[in-house]
Amino acid sequence: MYLIPIPAFADNYLWLLHDGKRALVVDPGDAEPVIRFLVQHALQLESILVTHHHADHTGGVDALRQTFNAKVFGPATERIPQPFTPLRSGDTAHALGMNFQVLDVPGHTAGHIAFYAPACKIEGASKPLLFCGDTLFSGGCGRLFEGTSTQMLASLEKLAALPGNTMVCCAHEYTLSNLRFALAVEPDNADLAAYQARCTSLREAGVPTLPTSIAQELLINPFLRTRQATIMAAARRFDASAHDDSSVFAAIRQWKNKFQ
Ligand code: ZN
Ligand code: FE
Repeated sequence: MYLIPIPAFADNYLWLLHDGKRALVVDPGDAEPVIRFLVQHALQLESILVTHHHADHTGGVDALRQTFNAKVFGPATERIPQPFTPLRSGDTAHALGMNFQVLDVPGHTAGHIAFYAPACKIEGASKPLLFCGDTLFSGGCGRLFEGTSTQMLASLEKLAALPGNTMVCCAHEYTLSNLRFALAVEPDNADLAAYQARCTSLREAGVPTLPTSIAQELLINPFLRTRQATIMAAARRFDASAHDDSSVFAAIRQWKNKFQ
């Protein structure tokens, strides 16, 4: 398989997985760049996976379905362009001959799901693969539009428990701005400084910082590190009442919302 982030809009990635003949695409907010890639590489679009209802993740679904007769999978409890196969936590989506486990990850939206394949052979190496939409970003997490901090924290902990080498395909290139905030929270985190240097040179070369990995995020992402003493102390500087996991998470999330 080949895994390609197709850039769209200002900072979206429409992830495309293909085997040289057939392809699947995740969260196609726009059909045009996907069609261009498929035509260029003579690929047949077999499936469309949707993580949540936002327009920048669903805007191209109808056009792609009509053009390629592709099968659409999406979260059962959200408004996705019909018809689609509704998925709930514990379901499996069969696409490109692979089985994707459906994980329930509410927080950014109420019915947000993620797709996880325990083993995907990409250019020779077999690794776990995760499409997580707007739940987990490199160095950050999605905004809480429809969910609570407690829900988002539980969703992120579910993702954090996946194998360290999981390839994490996030839907936006937010990494550098997330890392600026992460460094404000944890100025002494050496892994974070090293990662920021690496990501800065990638972006200067026009290269995506994604996919990231769960192991990498555990070292640098403040939203996966709310149990670390440094993060708890930083959260209390922003909100003195932050005491448990969920209030520490909420404080960091609110601080990020205000961070310039
Ligand atoms: Zn979204
Ligand atoms: Fe988005």
